[in-house]
This record gives sequence, structure tokens and C-alpha cells, in this order.
Amino acid sequence: MTVLAKNVAADLANASWVRRMFEAGIQLKAKYGAENVYDFSLGNPDLPAPAAVGEGLRAFAEHAGEPFAFGYMPNGGFPWLREKLAAHLSGEQGVKLGAEDVILTCGAAGGLNAFLRAVLDPGEKVLTFAPYFVEYGFYVSNHGGELVAVPSRPENFAPDLAALERAIDEKTRVVLINSPHNPTGAVYSRADLQALAALLENKSQQYGRPIWLVADEPYRFLAYDGAEVPSVLPLYPYAVAVSSLSKNMSLPGERVGWIALSPQMPEKAELMAALTFTNRILGFVNPPVVGQHIMGAALGSAVDREVYAARRAAMAEVLTRAGYEFVMPRGAFYFFPKAPGGDDVAFVNRLMEERVLAVPGSGFGWPGHIRLAFCVDESVIRNAEEGFARAAAAVREGAADAGAKA
Ligand code: PLP
Repeated sequence: MTVLAKNVAADLANASWVRRMFEAGIQLKAKYGAENVYDFSLGNPDLPAPAAVGEGLRAFAEHAGEPFAFGYMPNGGFPWLREKLAAHLSGEQGVKLGAEDVILTCGAAGGLNAFLRAVLDPGEKVLTFAPYFVEYGFYVSNHGGELVAVPSRPENFAPDLAALERAIDEKTRVVLINSPHNPTGAVYSRADLQALAALLENKSQQYGRPIWLVADEPYRFLAYDGAEVPSVLPLYPYAVAVSSLSKNMSLPGERVGWIALSPQMPEKAELMAALTFTNRILGFVNPPVVGQHIMGAALGSAVDREVYAARRAAMAEVLTRAGYEFVMPRGAFYFFPKAPGGDDVAFVNRLMEERVLAVPGSGFGWPGHIRLAFCVDESVIRNAEEGFARAAAAVREGAADAGAKA
């Protein structure tokens, strides 16, 4: 008997690659022991949260017995925290933000859903650059929209603005970008963001209504070698930044994040009223009380970035020695090398024989590559080297054999 909505049944049948690898990992770990499986499949930060998180939690615990300590609150979050967040983001984003320009959400995912619910009419398009975080497709379809993937520039995964320009039409409502980027580690340059803002100004005029620019930036804290992560808020009046504490404080299970609006936006009060409403009617109501207290205590602190930097260097060494081709990530905690042999799904299966777990680029709308998340100890990266090398060599020998027979 069919009990599900058709689109949910279809999406379930095509369960995401990340999930599939996660499940394969559980089986491999049960069979060989967790220490013998090299799991690069999940972007689940393994570093301990900064000390300020525990301190904030303990301080809040002192008040947990007070009336309404866990009570309902305004749907946009604690007003005192919005003030504090606005002051913090004013520094980070380089624009003067007030409490009325920011709203607290259930993670970046909750923020993106609240935003899309507020602005999308059925059938309208959200454009994003492929490869892309696969959940975007579900978030957009949640609200009756259509996600359209525009290719990035393959040499460095920078946004291909000419391709974007060709893809924009009268149904385009939102351009959604992500920098530092999952799965490629690209960090968009100031010049590209300025050119993107200029393009959207033009296209908004041409179609007689604003096209929103949404920057999904949970990895903003993690750019390497001093790479700049420019903010879009000063560049374009219809810009919105969405982020969370999931990655910078290793708190993805606590579900706290935010949306910040460009203070130059003429209709920002109207949009903020809508976001407060959509946060409520999507059933989020407000972000968790405990997470908000943690945010209040810990804003500005972050996990030890040096650990990620050292792992990135280790991964680059291991992959280079094993003969993989990749663009060095400039941010976030992912590598996105070419799949030796070209078939990403076949290669991920071959890696699994070496007990190395990766995710095929097909799962991010970009076949021919694999994603490796380095939220694992450096020893896991080092110990996986032989498996990486053997799998790549096997594919190369297979290709040479096939060539010799042809
Ligand atoms: N956006 C990107 C690009 C991500 O990689 C993730 C999580 O992996 C999210 C959004 C969702 O983050 P949150 O836990 O804040 O909802």
C-alpha cells in the first residue's frame, strides 16, 4: 500500500550517498573493528567543542531550576542574544548590524528552510553551483521550488558566472552560494563575489524584482593560509548570510544557527517579520534554549583550527604520493580529488575493498570525483595511505590491461 507522498517515496528510494556510505561503514566496522576502517564519509566534526561551550553550559545549569528557564520565547530567539550576535557579526561581516537584522534559527539548515519558505512561490528557481551540498535540493523542494545546478569552473571550483548568467531567467528567485565550500574546499574570491553582485543587480533590474543572494557559510571560520572569506552583506542589498555553530564549535547536534540580512535591504523589516513567522510555522518555533545560552557564552571562540590545517597537509601528502589529482582545498574540511579511472561510484566501491570510505561526486551533482572529509584523526589519514595507493594502482593497471587487450 502506498502510504507516502510520491516525492518523499522517490527521494527515500534515492537515499543520499553520504547516508549510504555511513551505513556501509557501520557494517565494515562491525566486521573488521573500527580502528581498521578509514572513514572519510561524514562531515561530522570530531574536534572537542571550545572550553567556553562547557563553561556556558555550566553557568546556565545554575539557573535551570528557575521558572520559565526553558519556556517559550519570541520566535526569533532571545532578544539579548540577537543583540550580542549582531555585535559579533558586525565585526565578522564588516557591516553595522543591529538586533533587528539577525534572527536565530535551528542550524543553518533551519535558517535556509525558513528563508526559502519566506520567499519562494511554487515553481520558482533556486540556482546553485555544482558540485553542491545535496540537501539543498530537498530544502528547495520542501517549499515547492526547483533547484537548478550551474557548473563551477572545473579547474578550481570557482563560480562560473557566465554559466550563471545564462541560467538566470524570469523564474529565478534565489542564487545560493556556499564558501568555504562543501565538497570542494573552494573559497570564493572578492572579485568573483563583486562580479556576482553586479550580475544580480543587472538581472534584478531586467526582471523587475530582486534576485536574492544567499551565502550559506557554516565553514566561514576555516580558511587556510590566510585566505580571505569576503562577506556578501556589504556587496549587495538583497544579500543574506546563513550560518551556525555546527562546524566552528563542533555543535551540529545542538541545532543553533542564524540568518543575517544586509542592512541596506529596503524591505528588511518585512523579510524579518516573514522569517520570524516561517521559523514558527515550520515547527521550529524557536531554536533550543540551551544552544542559545551556549552561543551567548561562546560566540567568538572556535575549535582548534591548527588541527584541521595539519590534517589538510597530511591528506595532501598522502593523496599526492598515492597518485591522486586534486585542487588543494582553501577552506572547510574536504578534499575533492578526481576518481582514478573516472568512474566515481566504481572507485568508491574499490576503495571500500581497502576499508577506505569516501563519497562519490555523483552524490554532489559532479561525477568523476570523490569527496573525502577529514574530520578524522591524522593517524587515520596516514594509515589509509596504502589503501588509497593500492586502489588507484589497481584502477591504473586495469586500464593498462584493457589497453593492451584492445
Ligand atoms: N550547509 C552546508 C554546506 C553544510 O555542509 C551543512 C552541514 O554539513 C549545512 C549547511 C547544515 O549545517 P547545520 O548543521 O548548521 O544545519
